[in-house]
Amino acid sequence: MFDFAMTPEQKEMRAAVRAFTEREIVPVAEEYDRRGESPLHICHKFYAEGWMSRFLPDESGDSRPFLVDGSIVTEELAYGCAGVASIIMLPIFFNRVTLFHLSGEVRAEFRQRLAEKPFITSFAASEHEAGSDLLTIQTKARRNKRGYVINGRKAFSGNVRLASYVIVVARTGPEETKSTDAFSWFLVPMDKPGVVIREAWDTLGLRAMDLSPIDFEDVEIPESYRLGEEGQGLRMMAEHLNPSRTGIAAMAVGIARRARDEVLKYGRTRKLYGDKLYKLQDYRFHIVEMEKDIAAARALVWLSGLKHDQGLDHSKEASIAKLFTGQMVMRVTGAASMMMGSLGYTRAAIVEKLLRDARHVAIVEGPEPVQKEMIFAEMLRRGVY
Ligand SMILES: Cc1cc2nc3c(=O)[nH]c(=O)nc-3n(C[C@H](O)[C@H](O)[C@H](O)COP(=O)(O)OP(=O)(O)OC[C@H]3O[C@@H](n4cnc5c(N)ncnc54)[C@H](O)[C@@H]3O)c2cc1C
Repeated sequence: MFDFAMTPEQKEMRAAVRAFTEREIVPVAEEYDRRGESPLHICHKFYAEGWMSRFLPDESGDSRPFLVDGSIVTEELAYGCAGVASIIMLPIFFNRVTLFHLSGEVRAEFRQRLAEKPFITSFAASEHEAGSDLLTIQTKARRNKRGYVINGRKAFSGNVRLASYVIVVARTGPEETKSTDAFSWFLVPMDKPGVVIREAWDTLGLRAMDLSPIDFEDVEIPESYRLGEEGQGLRMMAEHLNPSRTGIAAMAVGIARRARDEVLKYGRTRKLYGDKLYKLQDYRFHIVEMEKDIAAARALVWLSGLKHDQGLDHSKEASIAKLFTGQMVMRVTGAASMMMGSLGYTRAAIVEKLLRDARHVAIVEGPEPVQKEMIFAEMLRRGVY
């Protein structure tokens, strides 16, 4: 059974994150966007309130269901700034994944460090020639006596400049094979010799989040820093990217809600033809279209989250949520910019930033055609709605 009603605990959680967003993120979001800098202190303030540990598995590896709760939190943070939401939520997600796959002493040490001061873990899979087609990844991890030596160049890694660790997806199988068993994950401390961060990308949106290329030049990693079994890397991508896609879809809902609220506010204050702008039916109907889009998008995010949290296969729902929200958030922010006339085309209006931030939803973790291919494969495998 599905239940779309929030528990009292979830309502409390949403209210707390909403208050944090209003207090800490909204007032500074435009400034950090303009400067292209990351407000790391906001991230640490959020973690200091216990939000990182809330989503991590306990010592035995158990964790309570997290994807619906995580989506609620992500949506609220993204309402303030999608870039800041990415700095905060991506490390929670990657630290969680890391704890699941580490074992023994390294796991205990990682957990201990997180308890002392939560830190950022980044993720490096994409390469210049391997974005949608991950089977062409060239970064290699070769075995030596102590573990592995990693060499390669990654093109786009979020938060890597702020990170203490980066999870690297590297080829452990034969060089040119396109077998899905040819890849593995490794946890690489950023202070290892041979880890080189290149010049950050000057991005369209999410400007508060660092996006940089990173190279690995003979980086030695002990075997205990491999995450999961050797050769399981692409299966792990499939397993973990579905929750993460759901989180990106939740981000889109937050951005769209903010755009709707901005045009609601503008419609009440802007005068046109001697009356309030929202007295024009066309203006109101655009807002209704937004409301419809937001309601449908959130339902899809929660459907994916609920299925995940109930231990059900949610791969189709995660792709549908990301596909729908990627289109929805461009529609909503594009309309919001248009509804504010020339002002919506300037940096004086936050909708300009929202429109730029919206663009990433349809790109990261598989652009639209990739989601469509996956949905079609799932339709054949699992059946249709
Ligand atoms: C803000 C942001 C944050 C990111 N963060 C990370 C990160 O933390 N870690 C990381 O590893 N990567 C990250 N990425 C990279 C991102 O995941 C890739 O860029 C994305 O998967 C697309 O790969 P690509 O850029 O190589 O595009 P390509 O795969 O080269 O796609 C080019 C074009 O081909 C189209 N296309 C692709 N497949 C098909 C198909 N089957 N049929 C038809 N057309 C197709 C695409 O739609 C696109 O138009 C990030 C990117 C952005 C923008």
